[in-house]
Amino acid sequence: MYDTEFLVVGAGVTGLAFADHIASNDYLICEAANKIGGYCKTIQRDGFTWDYSGHFFHFKHAAIEKDLVSRMGGQKVYKVKKNSKIYWNGGWIDFPFQKNIHQLPKDDFVDCIHGLFFRQKKTPENFQEMLYSKFGKGISERFLIPYNQKLYATDLRNLDMNAMGRFFPHADMEQIVNNFKYSDNGSYNDYFTYPSGGAIQYVNALATGVAHERILLNERVISVDLKNHIALTNRREIRYESLISSAPLPALLGCCKVETNSSLYSWNKVLVFNIGFDSKGPTDIHWIYFPQEEISFYRVGFYDNILAENRMSLYVEIGMNHNSSLGEGDVEKIRDRVIGDLRKVGLVVNHKVLSWHYTVMDPAYVHITERSITEVSRVKEILSNHGVHSIGRYGGWTYCSIEDNIVEAQALAETFNAVDRIY
Ligand SMILES: Cc1cc2nc3c(=O)[nH]c(=O)nc-3n(C[C@H](O)[C@H](O)[C@H](O)COP(=O)(O)OP(=O)(O)OC[C@H]3O[C@@H](n4cnc5c(N)ncnc54)[C@H](O)[C@@H]3O)c2cc1C
Repeated sequence: MYDTEFLVVGAGVTGLAFADHIASNDYLICEAANKIGGYCKTIQRDGFTWDYSGHFFHFKHAAIEKDLVSRMGGQKVYKVKKNSKIYWNGGWIDFPFQKNIHQLPKDDFVDCIHGLFFRQKKTPENFQEMLYSKFGKGISERFLIPYNQKLYATDLRNLDMNAMGRFFPHADMEQIVNNFKYSDNGSYNDYFTYPSGGAIQYVNALATGVAHERILLNERVISVDLKNHIALTNRREIRYESLISSAPLPALLGCCKVETNSSLYSWNKVLVFNIGFDSKGPTDIHWIYFPQEEISFYRVGFYDNILAENRMSLYVEIGMNHNSSLGEGDVEKIRDRVIGDLRKVGLVVNHKVLSWHYTVMDPAYVHITERSITEVSRVKEILSNHGVHSIGRYGGWTYCSIEDNIVEAQALAETFNAVDRIY
């Protein structure tokens, strides 16, 4: 049997950030996949650079960014001022919708401003009610509800009013009206960075601080004996002092045989197509949102406009309910529909597809409700009383960014480092 002080489950950003930051050398990382990176992997195919859906970096902590870039061997990192649009009536308006209703045709604009002014200001009990009470009927029903329903693939009345936390672009009446004259579409992700080699370069930078022989690839943790601190993988038993897991929380609870109310966990999947074309499409735009029900995707992003390339290279995102599955031939059918829809919205004209790839991110966006938040903190406490720490976007069953994952993993490592310093 192997023995280790820290057993880390998952070699995504979270697991690697923990291993990179922990002072002790006595750790092992079990990674079920055959590569490191988790959702931050990059695919190089036929001259195109793609992620598992575009993964862009919005650093709030300059020290973290500086440290990672210093470990990237001089690789070019693009710093980009975001330009995002919403597809509307055959054209585009600026994002966010609620601040740019003056760019809509007159009838739509009048409906939106009327709804905003006369909205029912009651205390919202769910995400949909929050949209109606903050933005009124016109804005909610034209964009906020249909777009978010496509993204989350669920009835928005099932989501907590704060389901998107700081990622939701709030705007009050004053900001909306002011934006008619003095455009300010600033948001949390105004600028972002992206390495020329794709998102995996940030992961590789983290991995420079991790002993490679301590990363066990193709090694899935199957069950955990909480009492005796022994994890069983598909290859061996590992005794640990502390276990740090970035696996999705419901799966970890199953491994640890901790009882939970499984009906409180719900999420969507995102089917992502990366598609490379022979010639350029629109320039300057980084991504476009599609609220229209008849269009299969909710968002399309342009790697080529970030990496300054001369052939259109897209990621296309489609929200799916977590209970739905893809049967034989479905992927090709959906891909053909996607290309047709790209043609319909004017992004594909005479372009020829040169290469493509798809992946399903499951889970992608977890559905946050007050009851799920309470249950998550209850079960995390039970786990931590047994030396098991469930962290990361899916370990914490939350909505957060890569940088948040790094900050959380480093903070946890610090608590262990501090104890080591005391003794
Ligand atoms: C569509 C989409 C777009 C996104 N875009 C951005 C973006 O632009 N910018 C941004 O900051 N964030 C973005 N994110 C969020 C970002 O992907 C996550 O915050 C981050 O990748 C989470 O890293 P993690 O290490 O916590 O989890 P993961 O990346 O999920 O890594 C967990 C790892 O654990 C492994 N694992 C799971 N179970 C086991 C087991 N039992 N045994 C061993 N190994 C196991 C998995 O194989 C995986 O490698 C996006 C997310 C989605 C869904």
